[in-house]
Parts: sequence; structure tokens; C-alpha cells
Amino acid sequence: MRDELYESASQLFFLMGHPVRLRILDLLRRGEACVCHLQAALGLPQPYVSQQLRLLREAGLISSRREGLFIYYRLANQQVEELLGKVLGPVEETQPVPGCACPKCQRSFSADFLKEAVR
Ligand SMILES: [Zn+2]
Repeated sequence: MRDELYESASQLFFLMGHPVRLRILDLLRRGEACVCHLQAALGLPQPYVSQQLRLLREAGLISSRREGLFIYYRLANQQVEELLGKVLGPVEETQPVPGCACPKCQRSFSADFLKEAVR
């Protein structure tokens, strides 16, 4: 039905039409990430980031999985990935975020860098 299509498309544009949610989706394009990583990368409070993640997850744009203490989020919608590619261009390379305590960033930092960060 056309009406349902309009409805789901307008929901998609609503979710993608928010600067913070757009940045979250762009970060997740580079691979899965936990809340603490997104929080560090965005420089925003965790409850706020979690709230945006919940909206995106409930709408099926992203999905999550638990690993130990961390919950990792990833893109779960092909259409979103294609739209992001059209609007934002190619995926940027993932960079570890200074000060981020997530396992992925910790693994990327050299021992020297860590010493600096702890100081
Ligand atoms: Zn991180």
C-alpha cells in the first residue's frame, strides 16, 4: 500500500533527519560500536546517546548484541546504508577516539599513547 510506504519513508527520514542520529549512523557505518565509544566520539552525555540509540533500534535501523559488559550496536538496514552513502559519501576510516575506554579503541592505542591518556 502506498500509504504504508509513505509512513515508513517519513519515519526513516525523521530518524535520519536529526544531526546526532545521523552522526551515530555514520559512526556505525564504520563498524559496530558500543555506547561508550559513541559517547566519546560524539562528546555527548551517555543517557542522551542511549536514548537516540533506543529510537534507532526500535525502528529497526540498528541492532545490538551483548559481549561481556559491553553492548555493541551496528547498522541493520541496507536502505539506511545506501542512503548514507549517497548523502555523506564513502565511509571514513575508523580512528580510535582519544579517551575512549571501549575495547576496540584500547586495542588500537599504543602503550605510549595509553600512558599519555591516563596522566
Ligand atoms: Zn572506542
